[in-house]
Amino acid sequence: MKRILVTGGAGFIGSHLCKRLVDEGNYVICLDSLFTGSLENIKNLMDKPNFKFLEQDIEDEIDFEVNQIYNLACPASPPHYQFNPVKTVRTSVVGIANMLDLAKKYNATILQASTSEVYGDPLEHPQRETYWGNVNPIGIRSCYDEGKRCAETLMMDYHRQYGADIKIIRIFNTYGPNMHPNDGRVVSNFIVQALKGEDITIYGKGSQTRSFCYVSDLVEGMIRMMNSKEFTGPVNLGNPNERTILNLAELIINKIGSDSNLVYKPLPNDDPVKRKPDISLAKEKLNWQPTVSIEEGLELTIEYFKNKLARGV
Ligand code: NAD
Ligand code: UDP
Repeated sequence: MKRILVTGGAGFIGSHLCKRLVDEGNYVICLDSLFTGSLENIKNLMDKPNFKFLEQDIEDEIDFEVNQIYNLACPASPPHYQFNPVKTVRTSVVGIANMLDLAKKYNATILQASTSEVYGDPLEHPQRETYWGNVNPIGIRSCYDEGKRCAETLMMDYHRQYGADIKIIRIFNTYGPNMHPNDGRVVSNFIVQALKGEDITIYGKGSQTRSFCYVSDLVEGMIRMMNSKEFTGPVNLGNPNERTILNLAELIINKIGSDSNLVYKPLPNDDPVKRKPDISLAKEKLNWQPTVSIEEGLELTIEYFKNKLARGV
């Protein structure tokens, strides 16, 4: 039985990862400050003997033996990470240094949940891991982008300087059940708006693109990466199925059969114009690629939000 620490384990992706690791018979310690995560996301795990929840900040001292660390603690939606940008930088930078010290002390393997945001507003398309990115270091997204870039630097330096066993994944837009209904990300916003018959808020002209990955596909990739041999990454994990935001809105409206109207709002500063992962490296090294179509994934996510809204939670 492996002892696995998942930071940010009560969040959207973390809760799915914890469930999968618990179901596979590992002992899972979920550490979360509950800043954007919730106990609701992990309530089905709370009474399992191989699951333990710690309400704690990743910056605080942590000292217990683990074999693997998945570091996911960090708000991920633009409104949440811009709410307290100084804290966002600290969570990424001080947080990962703290986790790397723990990994070093107990010879644990550590996986960092990095992001496609390290590519910024990319000038290369689709994005490969070799691309260094086009990031504004002083803009409103920088607390997240530069925090994550610095975390990658610390991962590589602990690896080169101390021999730490590291894994870096760059996650592209992921969606699914357990997303926070008000966290401001596009999939949750559009589904909740469409279900309530409210206006669908398109930022800019809606011509910007993203490529959406269903959460179970991502979790499979994360676990494969953690257990890979002699491969540090970084590796892109995402679904290359690229679409415009306007197309996503139409898809969701049609699936729900909603009579919501589209309204156009200003495009936030530094919002990337296009994004699509090149996943050749993940295919080659991890034999991984997404299997869930956008139609299937949206249906599962819509069902989740329907139930949530019906229960008023
Ligand atoms: P989320 O906001 O649902 O989860 C983040 C979790 O981290 C929450 O439970 C939150 O309470 C916790 N947290 C935040 N600050 C903390 C701190 N200082 N100490 C302890 N816990 C803290 O977001 P998510 O979508 O599940 O993202 C998980 C990770 O994956 C994040 O690191 C994010 O940057 C990364 N990621 C996500 C996406 C995506 O599309 N969902 C894309 C790229 C990267
Ligand atoms: N977006 C939008 N309406 C919304 C929320 C987001 O048009 O209600 C756009 C946003 O401007 C961005 C894209 O959808 O271009 C994806 O936004 P999200 O916050 O989900 O992720 P990120 O920008 O971090 O990729």
